[in-house]
Amino acid sequence: MSTPRTAKPVAGEGISVPRGRMARHTVTLPDTPAPMPASPVTGTVNSDGHSAADRPLMTAHYIRSRIGKICVAITGASPAEMLRNAEDIVRENHFVEFRLDYLPNPVAIIPKVKTFLYERGEVTAVATCRRVATGGKFKGNIAAELEVLEKAAVAGCHLIDIELQTAEHLKPAQMKHLRSRGAALIISYHDFESTKDLDKIFDRIKPFQPEFAKIVSTAKTLTDNVTMMRFLERRRDEAELIGISMGDQGTISRVLGLRAGSVFTFASAHAGEETGAGQIDARTLREAWRIDQIDASTKVYGVVGNPVRHSLSPLMQNMAFRRETVNAVFLPLQTTRLNDLLTLVREVPLHGLAVTMPFKSEILKHLEKTDALSEKIGACNTVVRAQDGKLYGFNTDVAAIVRPLERRLQLKGAKILVLGAGGAGRAAVFGLAEKGAEVFIWNRTAETAKKLARQAKAKTIRKELLAKTSFDVIVNTTPVGMRGVKPVNLLEPNEINARLVFDLVYNPIDTPLIRMAREKGLPVVTGVEMFVHQGARQFEIWTGKPAPEEEMLRVVVHALRQAAGSTERA
Ligand code: NAP
Repeated sequence: MSTPRTAKPVAGEGISVPRGRMARHTVTLPDTPAPMPASPVTGTVNSDGHSAADRPLMTAHYIRSRIGKICVAITGASPAEMLRNAEDIVRENHFVEFRLDYLPNPVAIIPKVKTFLYERGEVTAVATCRRVATGGKFKGNIAAELEVLEKAAVAGCHLIDIELQTAEHLKPAQMKHLRSRGAALIISYHDFESTKDLDKIFDRIKPFQPEFAKIVSTAKTLTDNVTMMRFLERRRDEAELIGISMGDQGTISRVLGLRAGSVFTFASAHAGEETGAGQIDARTLREAWRIDQIDASTKVYGVVGNPVRHSLSPLMQNMAFRRETVNAVFLPLQTTRLNDLLTLVREVPLHGLAVTMPFKSEILKHLEKTDALSEKIGACNTVVRAQDGKLYGFNTDVAAIVRPLERRLQLKGAKILVLGAGGAGRAAVFGLAEKGAEVFIWNRTAETAKKLARQAKAKTIRKELLAKTSFDVIVNTTPVGMRGVKPVNLLEPNEINARLVFDLVYNPIDTPLIRMAREKGLPVVTGVEMFVHQGARQFEIWTGKPAPEEEMLRVVVHALRQAAGSTERA
């Protein structure tokens, strides 16, 4: 005798208790799908010839009652691997998508999915078998896709996802048949090139009356996220919408979309297992970005630059927001054009920015006012939106270079060599000269060093003199030593004649310069200390609260050590 499934909710009864967690034993499962709730709406016939009375309109509510804001995509090259991945993922996430198109023969996994879901009543599952023609991996035709999805629905998947192009190809009878299999329907559309015509796409999806309409575009600019947000805000009352923009520039849509009305978003199971460009792993979305707590009043901050995909600022600042219970989220804002950023700042609106290469100088002219230091240096790394709605700039890099040194030696009269004369070099030279240090600059391009020396009342020094000159401190402000930057020897061991060495590069923590200094028995200051210090001051400017600096340091060091470990293992 077959074991009955717990009934799904029935219209008028509200939401019934979902299927309970089942003991792990072999059971014979019924072949027929669970009955879907009857529609409270009767009589309307749509342009596609379907009667709305046939539609399980309560299903969207039921699904929403079961899910959080993240659906985790499960992939795998074989049924066994996909199931293993699923077992792993559902320990932390109860809303998952089986990307059946990743399997060579998707039908083969269906009986196992059936048992899997039967034993885990808390899990809500989407079945997707996207064809190659619509951006997926399934090589079969529409009929084969439908066969897989129908079987998945009968096996207990709560939702099935078909592309708009597939839906438009189906005859009303085929659609009706698919809809009769008990699963809610997502009709999705993917644009792998751009973010445009969102309303038109939605207008094509709407007549099918799916429980969820999903529109995924590609963001080529940060402004494309605004287009997606505005679309969601405009049309959110007409349907249960899911809106995402793919790509590095679209990463933020995974948060801003939810804020604008997307019912949920998609996440990868782990970093490196993305099923869409710009997808973020579930743990980062939940724990670092606290996506479950994001609401309309969540303030949005971000680090802007190019590139910023691997910046540790989001990890550090989101942790600080969580720790200090600030309702805010901090996002990576990758762009090549400042005007693009400024549109986002205005339209979201953003409450603050950490500014990195290459915008530290360019942003100045867009600010209402800056502190005296930013003006003098010609660079600003922190922007805050004040209560008057205007943008004000600060430079926390200077304090983050000066303070760690002040803690270790008297700067007045100290002889300091600064390597580099870019943005960070300028912050170091101005900050240290202002404290009364005698600053010497060496830069690869001598002319830039001379110009900076004139501006900051410092001196320049030629490379050939370094071996014969001793300093109290050597500060590296060039990117040499940074992960991903071509390794060159900035200084030879005999050119390191100092009492203390400070390398601004923080990834890796132990740079070649830091290692060389340690080998000579010299004390060092690593770039991590500066990174956390400048971030802590930014947090204080944005929130008016003391920054949890020790915790910030802890997460950054942990992340850097993990990154170093995985590079060594690779
Ligand atoms: P930037 O404005 O581009 O300046 C780079 C400087 O490094 C220029 O003076 C450049 O010399 C020099 N340089 C570049 N490649 C070189 C090479 N191969 N050999 C010798 N000199 C080289 O960059 P930035 O904003 O100052 O940032 C520089 C580094 O500081 C970053 O890579 C980052 O690691 C570090 N930083 C760390 C923190 C922190 O919180 N720890 C904060 C800010 C910056 P030319 O004039 O000849 O091009």
